[in-house]
Amino acid sequence: MQLLNYTSEDSHITRTEKQLRTYYCEVCGTHSLVTDADLSSLPTRTSDGAAALEEAEYFVKRYMNEGDKVLIMRGTGVETQYRYVCKECGMVLAYRPAPEPDECKYSYFFPDALIEEQSRAKALEGTLVGPSMLMSDD
Ligand SMILES: [Zn+2]
Repeated sequence: MQLLNYTSEDSHITRTEKQLRTYYCEVCGTHSLVTDADLSSLPTRTSDGAAALEEAEYFVKRYMNEGDKVLIMRGTGVETQYRYVCKECGMVLAYRPAPEPDECKYSYFFPDALIEEQSRAKALEGTLVGPSMLMSDD
């Protein structure tokens, strides 16, 4: 996973793939997604604001846990979502209409829940981790 953290010094290494973006959980800052899609420029669903990513078009690597299967009532019927949640805090970050490894035309990601700057995560913003938070009970 460290190999994906290119620095400017590493940029002379030949890369033929498209620019990969790294996204972090907006709540806790956990590394959650690597993709060559720009989530903020993808079309979004009017129903829930999720960004629709065409799976055949983009490289996607999720670093998420599989969450619940959820049924959602829509005007047109019942929609099934197989959700993906943050490994650390459980925040819902994405979903697919079918479980892996089944193919889907689209994967959906919540652009508000996935941020490109880890330092903007709520848990890392403003409050620094003090010594008291590093102590454990055992
Ligand atoms: Zn999180």
